[in-house]
Amino acid sequence: MSVLCLAERDGDEIASASLAALSFARALTPAGRVTAVVAGAAPAALGLADGAAAEVCHVVTPGLSGYAPVAWASALQQLAAARGAEAVVAAATDRGSEVLAHLGAMTALPVAANCVSANREGPGSWRLVRQRWAGSVLEDAVLDAPVALLTIAADAVQVADEVADDVADEQAPAGQAVVTTFTPELTDADVRVQARESGGAEQGMSLATARVVVGGGRGVGGPDGFAALEELAALLGGVVGVSRVVTSAGWRPHRQQVGQTGTKIAPELYLACGISGAIQHMAGCQGARCLIVVNTDPDAPIVSRADYAVIADLHEVLPALISAIRSRGSDYSASTWSNASGTVP
Ligand SMILES: Cc1cc2nc3c(=O)[nH]c(=O)nc-3n(C[C@H](O)[C@H](O)[C@H](O)COP(=O)(O)OP(=O)(O)OC[C@H]3O[C@@H](n4cnc5c(N)ncnc54)[C@H](O)[C@@H]3O)c2cc1C
Repeated sequence: MSVLCLAERDGDEIASASLAALSFARALTPAGRVTAVVAGAAPAALGLADGAAAEVCHVVTPGLSGYAPVAWASALQQLAAARGAEAVVAAATDRGSEVLAHLGAMTALPVAANCVSANREGPGSWRLVRQRWAGSVLEDAVLDAPVALLTIAADAVQVADEVADDVADEQAPAGQAVVTTFTPELTDADVRVQARESGGAEQGMSLATARVVVGGGRGVGGPDGFAALEELAALLGGVVGVSRVVTSAGWRPHRQQVGQTGTKIAPELYLACGISGAIQHMAGCQGARCLIVVNTDPDAPIVSRADYAVIADLHEVLPALISAIRSRGSDYSASTWSNASGTVP
């Protein structure tokens, strides 16, 4: 059985959400072929471990350099036909969800969103578990489709060791995978929508795929308060995310909102400052592997969800943290953060 997996890039690496999707894809077809489909020509070094995918296919679209959802979907459609794929999977990021929605519309196939698990019961027949209602409900579902189009819930799947190389090995070639290129035939309509620029592009990171997110809520106090969060995020190699109170007040743009009506994040580290932890916010960050909160209220709901809680004023904690990092001269931008081993550098 052949499975395609849309692999979004985070700079010169595969985004962690896509590594999880790749792990999911491998589980669908243990003895079969997984093709990691990467938009744009990329260096061979993509942080993929040996054998993570049978094939790494770079989709080359002349004249297109940025994100182009319809063009990407068209490329997947053509590749799926060429490879005889029985499933196409993507991380349930903004982009993965949008591309698969276009693919579903193009092919008239159903898309099953936010899957947690999938079992192939026979040709064209799948039994799924997927998240509904911002992850508060799990749904058992049956999918009958010649090609299963699946997005993978952000926090559903851990990246398998076989899929992700250590950061230290990121210069390694893409393992045993065959590296190919594919140039799809695109119409004018396919390329009509394309992103010219996006926030955070200078760091090659998006909120959905960042390894570190420094979050700010009402407790930050106003737009000026985010300078410290930006500074800390840059020191940690991450990005800033915010609560809805912050976007509703116009302190920060909506694209930085984490939550049910914002972006779902799955970073290695989420440092949430001045955020109470409303259910709608937590729905967007439950995929974080390590949650550290800074809050003046020990009874804030988010405190009980945290791996570590600092009960203090963020306006004192953040400058002290920034100063400590700067004085140590340490570079944390490539650090590994994990609560599984309890390590926090
Ligand atoms: C349909 C719907 C969808 C929603 N979608 C989202 C969503 O996607 N994302 C989202 O975030 N919310 C969403 N909300 C809103 C959500 O219910 C909360 O209102 C919101 O998350 C609260 O934001 P907050 O934590 O910043 O503010 P608050 O709840 O007011 O919390 C502020 C926190 O800051 C702490 N604090 C204050 N001062 C300091 C200080 N100096 N130092 C440290 N801590 C301090 C306080 O103790 C408090 O815990 C949604 C609501 C609805 C109804």
